[in-house]
Amino acid sequence: MCGIIAYIGNRPCRDILIEGLKRLEYRGYDSAGVAITCTGGDGSTRICKTVGRVADLEAKLDADEPKLDGTLGLAHTRWATHGAVTDPNTHPHTDDTGTICLVHNGIIENYQSLKKLLEEKGRVFRTETDTEVLATLISELYDPDHGMDLEAAVQAALREVTGAYAIAAISSKDPDTLVVARKGSPLIVGIGNGEYIVASDGSAIISHTSRAMTLDDYSVVRLSRDGLRTSTIDNVELSPKVMQLEIELGEIELGGFEHYMRKEIFEQPRALRRTMSGRLDMNEGCVVLGGLQTHAKELVRSRRVIICGQGTALNAGMIGEYLFEDLAKLPTEVEYASELRYRNPLIEEGTVVIAVSQSGETADTLAALHEVMDRGALGLGVINVVGSTISRDTDAGVYLRVGPEIGVASTKAFTGQVTVLTMMALFLARRRMMSGTEVTAFMRELERVPDHIEKTLEQDDAIRTLTEKYIHRENWLFLGRGYNYPTAMEGALKLKEISYIHAEGMPAAEMKHGPIALIDDGMPVVFIATQGAQYDKVVSNIEEVRSRGGHVIAVATEGDEDIRRLAEDVIYIPPCPEPLSPLVAVVPLQLIAYHAAVLRDKDVDKPRNLAKSVTVE
Ligand code: GLU
Repeated sequence: MCGIIAYIGNRPCRDILIEGLKRLEYRGYDSAGVAITCTGGDGSTRICKTVGRVADLEAKLDADEPKLDGTLGLAHTRWATHGAVTDPNTHPHTDDTGTICLVHNGIIENYQSLKKLLEEKGRVFRTETDTEVLATLISELYDPDHGMDLEAAVQAALREVTGAYAIAAISSKDPDTLVVARKGSPLIVGIGNGEYIVASDGSAIISHTSRAMTLDDYSVVRLSRDGLRTSTIDNVELSPKVMQLEIELGEIELGGFEHYMRKEIFEQPRALRRTMSGRLDMNEGCVVLGGLQTHAKELVRSRRVIICGQGTALNAGMIGEYLFEDLAKLPTEVEYASELRYRNPLIEEGTVVIAVSQSGETADTLAALHEVMDRGALGLGVINVVGSTISRDTDAGVYLRVGPEIGVASTKAFTGQVTVLTMMALFLARRRMMSGTEVTAFMRELERVPDHIEKTLEQDDAIRTLTEKYIHRENWLFLGRGYNYPTAMEGALKLKEISYIHAEGMPAAEMKHGPIALIDDGMPVVFIATQGAQYDKVVSNIEEVRSRGGHVIAVATEGDEDIRRLAEDVIYIPPCPEPLSPLVAVVPLQLIAYHAAVLRDKDVDKPRNLAKSVTVE
């Protein structure tokens, strides 16, 4: 959600900023802008911004004369929260004197009271944003002649602010300083050779440097061409935490694919092999998860697991619920993080909370994690982005290792999350009631999942043809039972988020309790009807749909010829144990959603209104 990129160094930064914005596009945005302190001339800061895509901003910059360039600059893609999507509301924002220039990701919750105070002092506002208020507050406090330099003014302003922010600020009176800060919203500082590149995530930094500094909440960094200083908003000096970015450029480029989503769907076999690599010990019959090792005893003794997340992560968590109860025999519940955090949850001794989030920055999940950990629960993370806030705030965790996910609709992160939750369940199961032999047998099946996915992907053309048949339908149902009820939820979520077709996912049995009224002649109903304990029940539900005129598309297990009598279309997946079937059954559903979006001419990787990592509540 929203992207920030800022530069200070010795190279002209216009192209660096634009390239960075392009790399951050996947996060979701509605408008884009850039501010550069021009080299030469009067050294003034010039701004160029526009509603629309980064390509529109680039075109506007190209048309600008004299050319805007310099060695200090800020850029931003906005995902509007306060004020309409208009040019004036687009970042960067300045105060009414034009001294402070600011980009911001997040929400200043007390902006109205601050605005009133500033108006009483005669300050004037020209936009509807909370960000302009922060720029004005910094400017009000800024007094370089009396010791209130940019860093001090930013610190002082942030002490007055409630809410979430990642910011980058420059001053027209100081062409040698860039000040950045964060609380809640992501921001990292890439450390190059005599230059710094600040960005919302590593993808915008990696083409310049792989050394980066992470920022804790309430930290402020002053960057100049001579070095940096890190402090808290109360000006307590901090030592910088430097890490190595584990991203390869190839991973964030399309590499011949038409869309990131397609690339990431097809990457799943390789990505999951990496997720499992070195973690399945066949000789000892156990799962090796370094991150959990130090808490193994506590985990074995735990009495209850709460898994929380939002969207796709929640669907993965629902599969986790089945896995933990089934394999590790641990009472488990899964809950929307946004509900968990506000409902005053009862946390008894022996509770473990597992936060699932691709980005590790999801605001609701982070807040729920803090709430439950404060009440004494052990906090674990199932996260993709290394060094992200959730991964740092948990007691322990397991990374997905599926590589950067750029497509807004999550695919490889979903299967990565389910794979990690499977391994976590086995990690516990082995220490509770499963024997080494049983675990080894299960792990051998898990190891084969990437091959099953590869085989399923071979049906891509057939799935496209099938999707074409139903592309004019505006309502779809996705139904499954047991382990594949969450798969159905995920299939429906994928379809609606990128093709804008209305889709509902639910337990197949629930259909009779209301949604069956929706079924009319020709309505596509996707059943996950793989072999498993409830297969016969699913078949009965298929009959019910057929007798009301619905068109059944079944995801079934290879060799199941009977299903052809019942379903208009069948997509076969290789046989695998039921607990692992969602990992394979979800793949055709991802492809249906992908093809539906392409056939309807939608922006697959940047669906309307959506953001990749939802960093506001
Ligand atoms: N709240 C700010 C605005 O509406 C920042 C939104 C963002 O994170 O892009 O402009």
